[in-house]
This record gives sequence, C-alpha cells and structure tokens, in this order.
Amino acid sequence: VSDTSRYIGRFAPSPTGSLHLGSLYTALASFLDAKAQQGLWLLRIDDLDTPRNTKDAAGNILTTLEAFGLQWDDEVYYQSHHISIYNDILATLQHHKLIYPCTCSRKTLTTSQSNTATEVIYPNNCRDNTFPCPTPHALRIKTDNRNIAFNDRLQGLISQQLASQHGDFILKRKDHIIAYQFAVVIDDDRQSVNHVVRGMDLLDSTAKQIYLQQRLGLNTPNYLHVPIITDEQGFKLSKQTKAQAVDLKSPTLVIFKLLHLLKQQLPVELQNASAAELLNWAITHWNPAALKPIAAIPLDD
Ligand code: GLU
Ligand code: ZN
Repeated sequence: VSDTSRYIGRFAPSPTGSLHLGSLYTALASFLDAKAQQGLWLLRIDDLDTPRNTKDAAGNILTTLEAFGLQWDDEVYYQSHHISIYNDILATLQHHKLIYPCTCSRKTLTTSQSNTATEVIYPNNCRDNTFPCPTPHALRIKTDNRNIAFNDRLQGLISQQLASQHGDFILKRKDHIIAYQFAVVIDDDRQSVNHVVRGMDLLDSTAKQIYLQQRLGLNTPNYLHVPIITDEQGFKLSKQTKAQAVDLKSPTLVIFKLLHLLKQQLPVELQNASAAELLNWAITHWNPAALKPIAAIPLDD
C-alpha cells in the first residue's frame, strides 16, 4: 500500500483458542477506531508459536468475527506463511553484529537478579558469544539505554530505557520459533499498519517494538492501548482463566455488552436495534477517550 495517509489498522489474534469476550473487546475497539477514520482494518493470524496453536482456532476466529459483523479488509495474513522473511532479516542483523547467540538455560536466568516486578532483566551474559554457535541457542538483540518514548492515545506519554529495564531480548527462541516482539514489528511494517489498537497487556512490549523499528529503519505506528477485561477475581479473561467463547447466537447482546464496556453511551432508542445498527452507530460516534487511561475493566462493570 503506497497511500501512507490512509489509516491502516489491524487485529492480530493468536490462534490458541476461540475468541472470548476479552479478545472480541479488543477486536471491536480496533475495528471501530479504523472504521471511524475510514481506514482499512486488516486481519493477521499470529500463528508462529506453533506449540500454543490449537486446531481449528484460526477458522473459528474468522467465523466469529464475521458473525459479529467485524469484516476485515484484504486477505487474511498468516505469519506462518512468511518464515523465510524473518530469517533473512535476522541474517542482516547478524551481519551488523546487532544480535548474538544466547545459550543460557531458563534455570540460569531465573536465579540471576530480577527487578521489583516479576520480569527478569536479562544480565546480558552471552553478549560476547560469536557465530557460528554449535550449541542450541536463542538469538538476542543488543539493547542500549536510549530513551524510547511514545505518546499512547489513551495512556499518555510512556518512556523506557531498554538496557536497564528489560535487557537484551529474544528475537528467535532456542526452539527456532520467531519471537512475538520481532514478528509483530516485521509484519506491521509489511502490512503498512500505521495504527495499532490492542490490549493494555501489551503496553510494556511497545518500547521493545519501537526499538526494533528504529534498528530496522521502519516507521513507528500510532498506539492506543485499551483496558483489558477482567473476571470476578480480577484476572484477565483468557484461556487460562477458562473464559468462555462468545455466544455466536446472540450477536446483538454481545455487541451491546461490549459497547457498554467500551464506555460508549448508547442512546435509549437503540435498545431494540440489531447488531449491525449498533455497529453503525458506534462507528459514527466512536469516542475512545471515554475509556480513560485505566488498565482494566471488570466484566460485570
Ligand atoms: N498476537 C498477539 C496476542 O494475541 C497480539 C499482537 C498485537 O496486537 O500486537 O496477544
Ligand atoms: Zn545468554
């Protein structure tokens, strides 16, 4: 796509199960944001982490989005169809000595120092390792302490220094799987995505992705991180918390609930409207600022 002025957004689910209310919430937010700006809304299936993929999940996701009227533009993009592209770019990074083989085991890493949160800062043990490396290894990118700042449309100014806050991070895992942080940057660029709307759980990944964009000379999209939906115990709705798949038989009820959770104030006249009418209204009146910069919204809000 050469028209850089046009809004291009995307929804990029991992096919690890059916869509639940939490994932459909993010899908709807990115759909409305794109359509409110006459943008394209692309669908990418983030299917590189093959051990986590489940049979039929991708097909289920497509059927669910269609049942709710969330029609994507263009062909579905499957990350797994483009593996050689990631490896070519890794070869370039290797040539520029920006990545190195890391042979650390999970055990070595968890016993080294960690920050106050639960995330472990990689102590850059293997920085001096060289290629070729015959032992099984991951590939890490060298980070530095440049200030990475971005203005999230909802969460405001976010800034991080990667070397001290995260350490060098993995682009390709020891099991040869391309890491999410790397693939997302390559594919957002390949799809000319200039607007990313996704859940708050990925806010902390954004600085890493911007750093990679800078290293690769790619554009940085505009970001909007929406709250995540939590259950009665305050946990993010997910497969792990056994979140139920959304009910395809009552799209109107589900869209109604999701618009309520997105804090969009539906007028009373729309009480008996169809799902399509609700969506049309929501596109016209989309106001993401109504969400406020909060991290999570309880399902029963
Ligand atoms: N595939 C990622 C996930 O399901 C989301 C990717 C993104 O929106 O950046 O968590
Ligand atoms: Zn290492």
